[in-house]
Amino acid sequence: MKDNSSVLPEAAALTPNTQRIGLGIDVHAFAPVEAQRALILGGVTIEHERGLAGHSDADVLVHAVMDALLGAARISGAEDIGALFPDTDSTYKNADSLVLLAAVRDKLAAAGYKIIDLDCVLVAQAPRLSPYREQMRANLARVLNLAPEQVGVKATTTERLGFEGREEGISAHAVALVEAVAPQQSDSSAQSKSAPSQNTTSPQAERP
Ligand SMILES: [Zn+2]
Repeated sequence: MKDNSSVLPEAAALTPNTQRIGLGIDVHAFAPVEAQRALILGGVTIEHERGLAGHSDADVLVHAVMDALLGAARISGAEDIGALFPDTDSTYKNADSLVLLAAVRDKLAAAGYKIIDLDCVLVAQAPRLSPYREQMRANLARVLNLAPEQVGVKATTTERLGFEGREEGISAHAVALVEAVAPQQSDSSAQSKSAPSQNTTSPQAERP
């Protein structure tokens, strides 16, 4: 590697087929019961007495996925979700994170990256998340124009250790593999997929 690490080359300047990996980690604390926040993970509304605190819908899984994708793409000015969607911007208050994910998808496509594969781990002592896994995978795959087989979602506990184990919050880790291709604009079919998820457990209107 040349010593140009501070200069982030666009994917278009990369040799086609260059593959890159990205890692994303996010943590959100639970909001108090009184806050009446919905718990939304991977675009799925999960039955639980407490939701996560945050500026957007606090979808910690989708946030980790976005950071993994942006980490792999290394686009100047869009190094992470904090750079793309500042929490000082009221536009993103209670934002549906799947809509933000669609914007990240389009950003990668415009920079010339194709998403190859994605794997994620949710770390939570409670509630039990495995019943919602397939729905989370389907939501992520739909927004990213991937097959569900290209998206892994697992959930684990920490045997009651740490903040997740004390049920103070939930963390999510994601890794993404992307490949440099020709830059492209999102087409109309991609646009239609940027619509918020239909989650079967709760209508969107119930979100805070
Ligand atoms: Zn977050």
